[in-house]
Amino acid sequence: MTVSTAVSSGALRTPSARAARPDSVCSAAVELARATAVDVAGDVVGEHVGVLAEGERLVTHLFESRQAGYRGWRWAVTVARVPRAKVVTVCEVCLLPGPDALLAPEWVPWSERLRPGDLGVGDLLPAAADDERLVPAYVLADDPAVEQVAGEIGLGRPRVMSRVGRLDLAERWYVGDGGPDTPMARQAPGVCGGCAFWLPLAGALAAMFGVCGNEFAPRDGMVVAADYGCGAHSEGVAAELLAVAGAEPAADRD
Ligand code: SF4
Repeated sequence: MTVSTAVSSGALRTPSARAARPDSVCSAAVELARATAVDVAGDVVGEHVGVLAEGERLVTHLFESRQAGYRGWRWAVTVARVPRAKVVTVCEVCLLPGPDALLAPEWVPWSERLRPGDLGVGDLLPAAADDERLVPAYVLADDPAVEQVAGEIGLGRPRVMSRVGRLDLAERWYVGDGGPDTPMARQAPGVCGGCAFWLPLAGALAAMFGVCGNEFAPRDGMVVAADYGCGAHSEGVAAELLAVAGAEPAADRD
């Protein structure tokens, strides 16, 4: 007899794989099956809830599981007999999930589970060799003079962001908290692109994004789109205009 006390997943075989009708002698062996299940599991074996035909002279008896944490699971005891014999033998005992069983969520590999912000202190997350956000940038020249210049002009990295990577981050930033479609930006007196505190990024992203350098702004030290904006805009409307509009400078509020 084979005994499996826990099965993490899977279900009983599909009806097409089973014999059409359960063997009557094996089906009658409910008490033998129950005694075997109790032998394995103790007093957590509940009511007999069904019989499945697994093959010729091969059936599985199902008993409700009363084990804590295994709601909807069933103790499955498979029994068989040889042709023309009336003696039934237990083949296997295991715990299987029923149709309403409480199951663990489907396992997802860590690489797909990872979310922005998950990286903790001391964690390592190097970019994969085939990461589509990166492209090769530079091969060592083996010439000290070239190496020095390369470092000065920022070529000292083996990989840089690819076009795919830049498009991806541009979209993410633009629709994020530093983009124009936010309550703060919609109420701003002007856009970052016209603000003295806007420090444009280098390279191809310079026209679209910069870092806010205003310590009183909500995005200080963070990336903002050129058409984002906030009330701390360096050229914000004068107090008189705010008064006409019914607003008041933040500094005057309680
Ligand atoms: S102060 Fe406001 S408007 Fe100026 S760059 Fe910062 S976020 Fe943009």
